[in-house]
Amino acid sequence: MVSLRVASLFSGVGGLDLGLQQAGHRIELMVERDAHCKQVLSARFPGVALLNDVAEVLPFMLENIDCVVAGFPCNDCSCENLKRPGLELGGATRSVSHVFRLLEARRVPWLLLENVVGLLKWHSDGEQRPAIDYVVNELENLGYRWAYRVVDLLSFGTPHKRRRVFVVASLHGDPRDVLLSQSAMCSGECVQLGMNNECYECFITPPRVPTKMFSASIDLGEKRRAPCCDIMHCFTTSNGRRTCVATQIGKQKAELSMLAIEDAERLMGFPPGYTEPCYPLMRPNERAPVFDTDLQTMKRFSLLGLACSVPQSRWLGEQLKCPYNVKFTYDALATPFEKPCPGPATRDRSSKAWPLAAYNMLNVNGDPKWTGRQRAPNEVSEFPLIRGFTPLGDFLEFTKNKPVRYELREGYLRRLELAHENIDSTILAALDVKRDSTQVTLPSPSKKSKIDILEDIDAEDDEQAANEYDDDSDEDEGESEETEAAKEKRHRDENNENDLDEHGMTTHGECSWVKWKGAVRGKTMYWPCVALHPLRDHAVIPEGARVAAFSPKFTEDHRLVIFFDDRRSFAWVKASEVYPFDKFYGEAMKQPVFSSKAKFTQSVESARAWCNARNLEAPVNPIVQRNNAHLFTDPSPCYECDVCVTEAHKAMADSKPQTRSRRSSGTESELAAGRSKMKSKCAQMKIIELARHGQIGATLALRKDKAVGQRIVVLWQRDNAFYSGTITAFDPHTYSFRVDYDDGDVDLNFKPWTESVMVAQYVPSNVDSDIALAKKANAASALKAKIIVHTAADAALDENPLCTKTMRRDDAGVAIQLKL
Ligand SMILES: [Zn+2]
Ligand SMILES: [Zn+2]
Repeated sequence: MVSLRVASLFSGVGGLDLGLQQAGHRIELMVERDAHCKQVLSARFPGVALLNDVAEVLPFMLENIDCVVAGFPCNDCSCENLKRPGLELGGATRSVSHVFRLLEARRVPWLLLENVVGLLKWHSDGEQRPAIDYVVNELENLGYRWAYRVVDLLSFGTPHKRRRVFVVASLHGDPRDVLLSQSAMCSGECVQLGMNNECYECFITPPRVPTKMFSASIDLGEKRRAPCCDIMHCFTTSNGRRTCVATQIGKQKAELSMLAIEDAERLMGFPPGYTEPCYPLMRPNERAPVFDTDLQTMKRFSLLGLACSVPQSRWLGEQLKCPYNVKFTYDALATPFEKPCPGPATRDRSSKAWPLAAYNMLNVNGDPKWTGRQRAPNEVSEFPLIRGFTPLGDFLEFTKNKPVRYELREGYLRRLELAHENIDSTILAALDVKRDSTQVTLPSPSKKSKIDILEDIDAEDDEQAANEYDDDSDEDEGESEETEAAKEKRHRDENNENDLDEHGMTTHGECSWVKWKGAVRGKTMYWPCVALHPLRDHAVIPEGARVAAFSPKFTEDHRLVIFFDDRRSFAWVKASEVYPFDKFYGEAMKQPVFSSKAKFTQSVESARAWCNARNLEAPVNPIVQRNNAHLFTDPSPCYECDVCVTEAHKAMADSKPQTRSRRSSGTESELAAGRSKMKSKCAQMKIIELARHGQIGATLALRKDKAVGQRIVVLWQRDNAFYSGTITAFDPHTYSFRVDYDDGDVDLNFKPWTESVMVAQYVPSNVDSDIALAKKANAASALKAKIIVHTAADAALDENPLCTKTMRRDDAGVAIQLKL
């Protein structure tokens, strides 16, 4: 673990810097020209040296610096800029040359660059090479090994599509370990990583679980692009303040609101209010200018468009902190590309791009020699990690009740209907032009005939739109919208009253087993439940159950248990009869078969899901601190392997001779020790840890029997070559796989998390279809499980979650009935 001292040469509002700082590095020097950005920087990074111009930076200033970072200006390369003059003709992007001027005089060990994907694209004149060519040439001249990769912000779970190129270069280290060693190709494993939500890949893989709150981002200045469902389109300097969000509320209603600047900041990973100090400009010896909220908001939006997102830079910061955590071992799968990089002289722009991930290494044994530019294998995707994805509707907190002007909606809708055929009815309802128009008839969405006149209409609308944005007379037209929003808020407050999670279960308490003489023909059996402490969890104990607290019987010796069943029924039981979920799992699962087996299995599944999701808290938003641990719950053992089964059994046996009083007073640490002992032995614990760090073999291992049929390639260190094979079996007792290699070799005890393994994407066609099917089936079953949970939760919410007619009995066999 190393903490780097960082100099940042094009700081902007400090997105790269904030991410690196969150990862534990120290920002020593910042450089920024823009006066608005500088006000943000001095407010958010007090005490850090701040220079005005990169030209002012002198080599000696980098004396004690370990890492130079630069999100250099992108205007000349960005695809948003239609001219794209490039490095040769453009102005701003050229200033990246200062980075190399400084590195030449002072070889800083690490370099990190960030830019738009346009950096990799040939310029429209077809002559000028992509700007990346200049960058890596300079790096090679200076003797820096380099690697670059396109990374999507969606990979980190933020609902914001933002692809950026990151270049990592190093004098002595291996930048591939930092940037290219991780790749996530999830097909349902995310459920097991202990995250709240499935990952983005699974989220968009059919069958889709309907989002709780469907929403779509709409760029009102956009000509043809349809709204983005459940994610935010990429912010640029101009589109943020033209963005509105359509959100579905309830079954029929939909609401439209302009995107709040605070949510825009959160979508970039900044705490809300982060960019506020940018306006008004405070000049020395001048009176403070008149404050104008609208101008301030516009400025903040445009600064955000240029910024680097915090989750992306934080990930890189964490990688730079342990640069050798995961080794890049896929060299044998890379393909060289000729120098200069091939850019076919065709008119097709898409083919005129560099690969999305590439590198060049320098061998220093004896005579220093470049290995040549390598195209990273296709499996190195834009998604380095598997992280739980929050759909836009659930993510937004501040975007509410900011009316969207009628003319804008109408103009946008007109363009939209001409360009696209299928627009979600929710969005149409949200745009709801008809409601407050006198008599507007929408052009029918019939196709080709209208396309011809598209250009003219666009031009016209743009003008209109521009006028609208500059017009500040803002008469409110959305009274009914307001009441809708108020209703919606009330509705949500009601739902949150008891701190219920998505499964309709309280988020407090301990997951447990309770033995009860239940509804099933008076048989005694263990059933999973959540046990609430009468004092500690007092706040979430439902009113109806609380009356019982006045009885002297219900003291600290009792627990309110809420059962994982359809009705969420509950009972008060003695603390000594509540068994920890983990420890007694083995015993409980050995119960004889009974008539409600299916119900029981479903309850156990819900209980396990609850355990996985429970430590999750929304990160509080301090500027710097954010504990990564909050993203995950403790990894859970598999409960299936021999280790888990025997451990659970042993734990059970150990605690049996305990007297009732001893057990109830059994210290927390004793329990915890027992639990961690058990967990440390199950292979899955280790696997989950590795998978969270983006280890590919570990992710594969999590698929268990669903990995059967998967084609893989495995590195044989001795030969430094990859051999291809197929996973043909999974043994849950030993947590190992069988691999049949194509050359006839068979490995019966294959443990993918201990190997360098790559999930093969390109395989012979006959096998290919099988894998495609298997992958689909994996994803489908993972999602099916989610759908069941969702519907169960919905059903539970429809009824009274706390049924009055519980059939629970106390230890004397008397039915416990609660009056509400
Ligand atoms: Zn997934
Ligand atoms: Zn296990």
